[in-house]
Amino acid sequence: MKLAVFSTKKWVRDSFSSNLPPSLDITFFEARLNAETAVLADGFDSICIFVNDDVNDTVIGILADHGVRIIAMRCAGFNNVDLKSAEMHGIIVCRVPAYSPYAIAEHALGLILSLNRKYHRAHARVREGNFSLDGLMGFDMHGKTIGIIGTGRIGRIFMNVISGLGVKILAYDKFPSDEVKTKGITYVELEQLYKDSDIISLHCPLTYETYHLINDFAIKSMKKGVMLINTSRGPLIDTGSVINGLKSGIIGYVGLDVYEEEGDLFFEDLSDEVIQDDTFVRLQTFPNVLITSHQAFFTTEAIDNIRDTTFDNLIQIEDTGTCANIVINVPDTDTVR
Ligand code: NAD
Repeated sequence: MKLAVFSTKKWVRDSFSSNLPPSLDITFFEARLNAETAVLADGFDSICIFVNDDVNDTVIGILADHGVRIIAMRCAGFNNVDLKSAEMHGIIVCRVPAYSPYAIAEHALGLILSLNRKYHRAHARVREGNFSLDGLMGFDMHGKTIGIIGTGRIGRIFMNVISGLGVKILAYDKFPSDEVKTKGITYVELEQLYKDSDIISLHCPLTYETYHLINDFAIKSMKKGVMLINTSRGPLIDTGSVINGLKSGIIGYVGLDVYEEEGDLFFEDLSDEVIQDDTFVRLQTFPNVLITSHQAFFTTEAIDNIRDTTFDNLIQIEDTGTCANIVINVPDTDTVR
């Protein structure tokens, strides 16, 4: 099978070139997949894409015209693929549903501790010979309330990760889990979670329903000084509302691994360029905002799992026409992403 891998960085090439099954003939493209670059897939049976490739109806049409039969996503979320269009063109979409929930959960904790104890600022200061503690005061995690929105694979591991800190955990999920309840975790309505949480961590998928879940209305009902953590998908947060929340002081800290317009920025070295996204630049001016460039998944274990599952998916589909990780288009639903 001929496989074209889009949005290739060095780490993708290194990982996917090792353990390569003999039945896969792989070509790497640095380009992101979009309507301009889709023709590169000419002559390939399958393509492999990542979180910021834009696989809309036009792109799917081009891929189908050029003979692509399988879109293998090397990530869990699939909000960037028009599943209905893929189905109409007979293109199979598969993904890697879980590669390391630990990686993301641990990164969320890292953001929380860094924002609280300001390690990033302290490190920069000490390197400059500034040993002052002014402005570095944090708070004990012990006794604080952490609200978790989305108690799936990552949300549950996140619960385990933080449970040693002596915090109280509140949870909200559209589909509460019995497993979580048996652990003594209380499910509450969103309003109560907003009202009572000192820290709110987002672990739900991006759907039509969760788009801008964190908006002016939600922020108004939050505890003053709340810490907001998003390692899930950027558009869960209305960035303008969060900036207003930071300015008013309702939001005390923001930790982001994802950003709603990240497609123009993340994964690229733009250090010599003028950033055109004024909203992003404004966000970075706050001393209590910490942003990482969609790296929560980026551990050795996760990358190995992504590679192995992607190859398994492709080989199974080639051999049997299906695999366990196919993403099915469910019409008229907002809960599939
Ligand atoms: P999952 O499907 O196991 O869990 C998602 C949970 O969200 C489920 O329990 C589901 O019931 C719940 N949910 C669905 N709709 C909801 C709603 N409207 N309100 C509240 N909860 C709702 O997914 P997961 O593996 O835990 O991943 C969660 C998200 O993390 C993914 O959707 C993905 O966007 C993101 N992610 C980010 C990274 C990263 O590197 N930053 C890596 C992997 C995944």
